[in-house]
Amino acid sequence: MEIVAVPAFSDNYLWLVYDPASGETAVVDPGDAAPVLAAAEARGWRITTILNTHWHPDHTGGNLAVKAATGAIVYGPAGEADRIPGLDHPLGDSDRVSLGAQEAEVIAVPGHTLGHIAYWFAGDGVAFVGDTMFAMGCGRLFEGTPEQMHKSLRRLAALPEETALYCAHEYTLSNARFAAQAFPDDLAIAERLTVVEEARAAGRPTVPTDVAAERATNPFLRARDVDEFAKLRLAKDHFR
Ligand SMILES: [Zn+2]
Repeated sequence: MEIVAVPAFSDNYLWLVYDPASGETAVVDPGDAAPVLAAAEARGWRITTILNTHWHPDHTGGNLAVKAATGAIVYGPAGEADRIPGLDHPLGDSDRVSLGAQEAEVIAVPGHTLGHIAYWFAGDGVAFVGDTMFAMGCGRLFEGTPEQMHKSLRRLAALPEETALYCAHEYTLSNARFAAQAFPDDLAIAERLTVVEEARAAGRPTVPTDVAAERATNPFLRARDVDEFAKLRLAKDHFR
């Protein structure tokens, strides 16, 4: 499959996913319709599928306009069904979604919101993780508990190490600086901070990341238990 980042708002990535064999195209979390429709049209792709990870408006705000323009079918978390505009197919843990011959498995990853799900295309080694895991970071706990998020991150970290993780925001520089402050003696984190600083200074995206890189440098995966995780998350909430 071919995956294209469509930047939106100040730091969102909306993901267009094209399956060449079938011509089917998915958009993951269309917070805004116009840039997504323009990016698809520029490539001659027809959007057939909308995949929502959670209800936040910067992930779902373009659902109805994309659906009206293309007739796309909307998939999203069953636990947030009443807050996903235009939802056709509510999904829960271990459900499956097809894009042509490609199949994604749904992984329930509550924490940022209570119904948050991720889409794992095992055949392509790709996962769309929304606002659950970020490069060197994780989403804020708006609805869920530290226990839920700790478990959700561990589930994503347990995917095969070469799995590419497509998160929904460019937060890596702030995350890397926080990680370097929380683990000042860690060489892997220090090295990745340098790489991220160079990439951002040159205007390059730092997403996708992959499971191996997150296992090595994501500070939230260093937490040995829920208490440690909760302390780290709280410290990041106040980090500037
Ligand atoms: Zn969110």
